[in-house]
Amino acid sequence: MNSEIILKGIPASPGVAIGPAFLFGREDFVVSPRGITESEVSTEIVRFEESLIKTRHEIIEIQKKIEEQMGTEHAEIFDAHLLVLEDRMLIEDVITHVKKDKLCVEYIFSEVLKKYVNVFSRIEDEYLRERITDINDVGKRILRNLLGEKRQVVSSMQDQFILIAHDLAPSDTATMHKKNVIAFITDIGSRTSHTAIMAKSLEIPSVVGLETATLKVKDGDIVIVDGRGGLVIVNPAKETLSKYKSERQKFVSQKDRFLSLKDLPAETPDGRKVDLVANIELPEEIPSIIDHGAFGIGLYRTEYFYMNRVDLPTEEEQYEAYKHVAEAMLPHSVVVRTLDLGGDKFVSKLQVPKDMNPFLGWRAIRFCLARPDIFKVQLRAILKASAHGKLKLMYPMISGIEELRQANVILDEVRKELKKDKIAFDEKMEIGAMIEVPSAALTADILAKEADFFSIGTNDLIQYALAIDRTNEKIAYLYEPAHPAVLKLIKNIIDAGHAAKIWVGMCGEMTEEPALALILLGLGLDEFSASSVTVPQLKQLFRNTSYKKAQEIAKKALSLSTVKEVVDYSRGELRKIAPELLGSEG
Ligand code: PEP
Ligand code: MG
Repeated sequence: MNSEIILKGIPASPGVAIGPAFLFGREDFVVSPRGITESEVSTEIVRFEESLIKTRHEIIEIQKKIEEQMGTEHAEIFDAHLLVLEDRMLIEDVITHVKKDKLCVEYIFSEVLKKYVNVFSRIEDEYLRERITDINDVGKRILRNLLGEKRQVVSSMQDQFILIAHDLAPSDTATMHKKNVIAFITDIGSRTSHTAIMAKSLEIPSVVGLETATLKVKDGDIVIVDGRGGLVIVNPAKETLSKYKSERQKFVSQKDRFLSLKDLPAETPDGRKVDLVANIELPEEIPSIIDHGAFGIGLYRTEYFYMNRVDLPTEEEQYEAYKHVAEAMLPHSVVVRTLDLGGDKFVSKLQVPKDMNPFLGWRAIRFCLARPDIFKVQLRAILKASAHGKLKLMYPMISGIEELRQANVILDEVRKELKKDKIAFDEKMEIGAMIEVPSAALTADILAKEADFFSIGTNDLIQYALAIDRTNEKIAYLYEPAHPAVLKLIKNIIDAGHAAKIWVGMCGEMTEEPALALILLGLGLDEFSASSVTVPQLKQLFRNTSYKKAQEIAKKALSLSTVKEVVDYSRGELRKIAPELLGSEG
């Protein structure tokens, strides 16, 4: 009997799944060189051209399916794949070598492919380096077609399984069908990777960043995936298996119960009402957040608009998208965050130089203030869209009052231009600041006098306050929302906001931990913005907690000295109020 192995990774999408493992993508084709005669050269070239055409059809087919199921934005990822197929240099390289070396085209192609991947892996530009996945993905398709081999196609498999992969190309993730793939786990990837975002919107439990999962799991092993806790258990012992079977059952029945709360307000029994809203990256997520009972959008991350493409989005294009989101969410409001590029999000077109410490570098509002030409296009689009719904605008990474003022000066210029051109916009649109830099948290009283609202970005606030790179899995154990320093900063922000009579929300992932949400409720947070799948849990929590009790819990939590004390105490209180929300580690 194999012994149980526990792997800890990064939670990417919640849920519990138990099933046999299927190792995906170990398709390193071994292609041997085969000599050809002069007369065979032209046949080999024709074979190559036919495989390109076939591959093209396959990709267009996938693109169509994705567009139908998930919308245009997800489908556009495959434009990059099509571009690889049209790369003249790659094609010429292959043809020249077939003619010169007189070797079979699959061997030549696999060598050229290796050379390309090599060159790209040494490129400084993060965006271009990420293209390796596209090149590999398309390259394998072409090789498969050249060799006449059948591809492992996830969507065509019959049985239910847990997919184990080193990495997943967007095309693999997007074609997964919930019926077969009951969960997936990967060696690499982060919370913000496209794969993780798609997993959440497809509601497939998943854990990423496991580093060695593909080495530790064998085909057919029984695997438990706990997407909330970021845990994977291989060959579970009998007791573990039965514990997780009941966890899975609980999760499913809880989900049904949670969804029944959809239309009910997020209100405590003693009458404290909070705004429970959701975060989105793509407009396609709107139906899902409405289904989960969110009453608005607390963070629309617009930078995804600028990613996975070679050009910059135009004003018209952005206006259409923001207008669509504003209209679709009526009567609720939408907080649109202006461009937050840099850090771990890059766009090659903008030629942002690589900083030594990208998270401390030229990102978000710093970038926008330095490039008003790009910033103004987005502001114009948001202002114009504000005439069609209830939009609010917020700036990311504000570190002090000067930056807020500078951003508002540019916004005012854009407002004047629109007025001059007699273009309608909401003149009363609220303008807020994200508070995610410790210097802003500590000067929240100053900022509150000139902002209409605050939204606390704990993903960044925690990394800056505790000096923990949020993307580095080696120090992930130190990344602690329950750190007393973090709680003190949050209290300071909320108190400063309230003293100046503005509302304070939070759109960082900290809202997604029910035990900590209890403390945040007690601290007086006015708005909670979370991923759609977490919204029903928070609603359940608020509807079962008296505000008075939450205030007592917050007061006590703030008096504690260590992370462990805060975690143990808040989880203990949550166990009394809503034990079903404790998750698998409870
Ligand atoms: C945050 O920093 O908490 C946040 C919500 O923004 P992002 O994760 O996009 O940096
Ligand atoms: Mg942030």
